[in-house]
Amino acid sequence: MTEDILRVNRLSTRFFTQEGQVNAVDDLDLRIERGEVFGIVGESGSGKSVTARSIVDLIESPGEITDGTIRFNDAELAAAVREDHPGAVDGDFVDLRAVPERLRRSLRGTSFSMIFQDPESSFNPSLTVGEQLAEAVEVQRRASATPRSTRARTKSSEYSLGNFVLSAMLPSRRYVSEESRERAIELLELVGIPDPVERADEYPHEYSGGMLQRAMIAQALAGEPDVLIADEPTTALDVTIQAQILDLLDDLQRETGMTILLITHNLGVVARMCDRVGVMYAGEIVERGTLADVFDDRVHPYTEGLLGSIPDLEGVRGRLDPIPGNVPSLLDAEMGDRCHFADRCPKAMADCLEHPPEYPAAGSEHHQARCVLAEMEYDPARALPEGYFDETERPAADKHAGPEEPEEEPPEERRHPPAETTGGEHQ
Ligand code: SF4
Repeated sequence: MTEDILRVNRLSTRFFTQEGQVNAVDDLDLRIERGEVFGIVGESGSGKSVTARSIVDLIESPGEITDGTIRFNDAELAAAVREDHPGAVDGDFVDLRAVPERLRRSLRGTSFSMIFQDPESSFNPSLTVGEQLAEAVEVQRRASATPRSTRARTKSSEYSLGNFVLSAMLPSRRYVSEESRERAIELLELVGIPDPVERADEYPHEYSGGMLQRAMIAQALAGEPDVLIADEPTTALDVTIQAQILDLLDDLQRETGMTILLITHNLGVVARMCDRVGVMYAGEIVERGTLADVFDDRVHPYTEGLLGSIPDLEGVRGRLDPIPGNVPSLLDAEMGDRCHFADRCPKAMADCLEHPPEYPAAGSEHHQARCVLAEMEYDPARALPEGYFDETERPAADKHAGPEEPEEEPPEERRHPPAETTGGEHQ
C-alpha cells in the first residue's frame, strides 16, 4: 500500500466578513497518497480553492484557518523540527500548523507548489518570463543549500536588496546565477515551449494563454516540489490547449512521480487525470473514492447531479439535467444543522434533517459518502414535501435575532412616505 504524503484532519477555514462568518471549509478530512493524482471537484463556491490555499498557508485576512491539522510526511523535516517543536511531529509527519510561519513559508516551492487558474495575473509584466523563472530557480536553489531555512533566501549578502539594486545597474553583479538561468531555459523546454532560449527573453504579454500556463507550470516545478497543487489549471484556456496542458501534467507526473492535488469543476478532467476524487459541496467533501467508486457506484445525489449535467457525446441522453437551486452562501448563520444539500436534493427525507456523518459506501475501501443513502434505501414515504425548506427555514438574520419582537407601529412618515422617496428600492 502506498504511504500517505498529506493528511488533513478537521480543517476549518473561516472568513469573517461584515455579513457574518463564512464557513468556506468546514471540518474537512483529506488523505493524499504519495505519487497519486487526487482530484477535488465541485461547483464554484464549494470551497475547493480555499482548501488548496489553506494547505499551502495562503489564506489572507479576513480569512483564517480556525481549526484542524495539516500533516506532511517528510522524514527530513520531521528530524529537523523534532527538537524545537516536539508537539508538531508524529513519526515522519509534521503538522504544518504547529510550526513557525517562517518554516511553512520555506516549504512553498520546495515541498508544495501551486499553479493558479489565471497565469496572466501571476507573472510580473515588467520582467521577462526567463528572468522570473530564473529567479524562482535561484530562490529554490538557495533554499536547498540551507534546507528548511528562509535565512538563505532573504538574509544572505548575495540575495540582499543592495545586491538586487546593484545587479540592475552592473551586469557583473548578477542577481541570479548563470546556472539558474540555464535551468530556467531547461524548464521552459521541459514544459514544451518552442525555442526556449529566445522565448526566455520575451515578456509575459508576448506569450499566448497556453504558453503562459506552461510557463507557470515551469515556475511551479522550479523547486522540484513533492506536492503540486493545480487550481483549475485549464479553466482560462480553450479546449485544445486544455488538452495539451493536461497531457503535460500527466507526463510530468509520470516522469517525476510527484503528487498532484487537482482542483477542478470539470468531471471530465477528473476522469482523465485522477486516481481518486473528492466531491466537494458547501465546504465539505460529500463523497470520496476511486474513480470507479464515484463514477460508477456513486451514492450522493450531488455527485449524481454533477454527472447528470455532463453532455453525453454518444447522444444516449437527451436534455441535460441541471442541479436545481444554488450553492448555499456558506454564512454560518444560514448553514443549519441539516444536510447542506437537502434543499436541492431530490431524495431528501426526514432522516436528512440532521447533519450526516461520512458513512462507508459500497465499492472500494476508499469509498465514503456524507449521505444517509449510504446506510439506507431511499424511502418515498419519508420524503420531505416539495418546498419544505422554503417554509421551514427563516432567513438567517431572523434566526439569530432571538425571539421575534412584536412589530412596532411604523411612524407616521413611514406609513405615508413623501412622494419623492417612494418606489426606490435603495431608499
Ligand atoms: S443526506 Fe439526504 S438530503 Fe443529504 S444528500 Fe443524502 S439523501 Fe440528499
